[in-house]
Amino acid sequence: MIYLDHAATTTMYPEAVKQMLPYFQRYFCNPSGTYQQGTMIHKSINQIRANIAQSIHVEPEEVYFTSGGTESDNWILINTARNYSEKGRHIITTQIEHHAILHTCQFLETQGYEVTYLPVNEKGIVEPEMVREAIRPDTILVSIMFANNEIGTVQPIAQIGQITREKGVVFHTDAVQAYGHLPINAKELGIQSLSASAHKFGGPKGTGFLYVKKDVKLSPLINGGAQERKERAGTENVPGIMGMGKAAELSIENMSQHEKKESMLRDYLKDRILSEIEMVRLNGDARKRLPGNLNVSFRGLQSQALITMLEMRGIYVSGGSACTSEEKGPSHVLKALGLSDEMAGGALRITIGYENTMEEMDYTFRCIQAAVEELRKL
Ligand code: PLP
Repeated sequence: MIYLDHAATTTMYPEAVKQMLPYFQRYFCNPSGTYQQGTMIHKSINQIRANIAQSIHVEPEEVYFTSGGTESDNWILINTARNYSEKGRHIITTQIEHHAILHTCQFLETQGYEVTYLPVNEKGIVEPEMVREAIRPDTILVSIMFANNEIGTVQPIAQIGQITREKGVVFHTDAVQAYGHLPINAKELGIQSLSASAHKFGGPKGTGFLYVKKDVKLSPLINGGAQERKERAGTENVPGIMGMGKAAELSIENMSQHEKKESMLRDYLKDRILSEIEMVRLNGDARKRLPGNLNVSFRGLQSQALITMLEMRGIYVSGGSACTSEEKGPSHVLKALGLSDEMAGGALRITIGYENTMEEMDYTFRCIQAAVEELRKL
């Protein structure tokens, strides 16, 4: 199998798996237990909290462990809506967010909140000045993703952070696709809240974190016990947190090396596809994108047919976001770029990981070329 769907989920670091294993049996105690093993596990969890906090230049007390990106996004959106409703009921986001944000915004609309969904340019980039213009006296939150899961575009986070700082509005970024792949200095960038998910950077599924700056009013989404400083109840997913800690450490340590390799492989495949196959377009920005992300549309093709033909040759790719694969219709992200239904329907998302090779790129290119030719003949 040639796995080229790393935006959907990544292969786990073997070291992260190894790190988790003892916590299923040998160190199984509840971290809230007051006996020796409980306190030892509690300490280990807090060490990981400190390491993760350091990786984004924030304080350990500002990091909360969650069940992943979806929970983190839900938490901060619903929280801010509740805790700032006296100031106002207006939220700003973009048309190209993940459904963890979009569907939560839609839920908030049913609760009397107003949401502005900012458009993006034809490359998928949000114009910072549009954010400034959209902010009103009753705006309580700006939520703009760090990097897009379909087209990989990286947003001008520093400029947006500067604007929200000036205007005194909470700024959240869904960094699920970016954390562990791009350097993030939340303090410098003016980010007050950030979501991340372990399975997107070589860790286990069902584990993630939410960073929330101390001066943002926070209250629990999940009520119960006193875990996570009484802000997120429920016995901790100890093996998950351990695996995420190791994956975070390795991703940060190897980031520039991985970035270089992934973008080199991506550019090689992109150049061949764009120069040797006809009627194809690159979706997203050529430079401001995640290192491993390639998204191209083939005119006159249905992406599912292409995906199936590639799978028959052992190649795993996708048409768009894994979370929306069961939904019908063209991707909301590609439609926001202004693509026609035909071009949006013929999109292929290839997301490369550090473990992929040049031989795999050559083989993938040959298979794509042959499949496109065959399908177009039909
Ligand atoms: N946000 C983005 C940008 C994502 O790509 C994803 C997953 O695909 C999520 C949120 C949801 O994360 P999780 O799978 O951890 O719930």
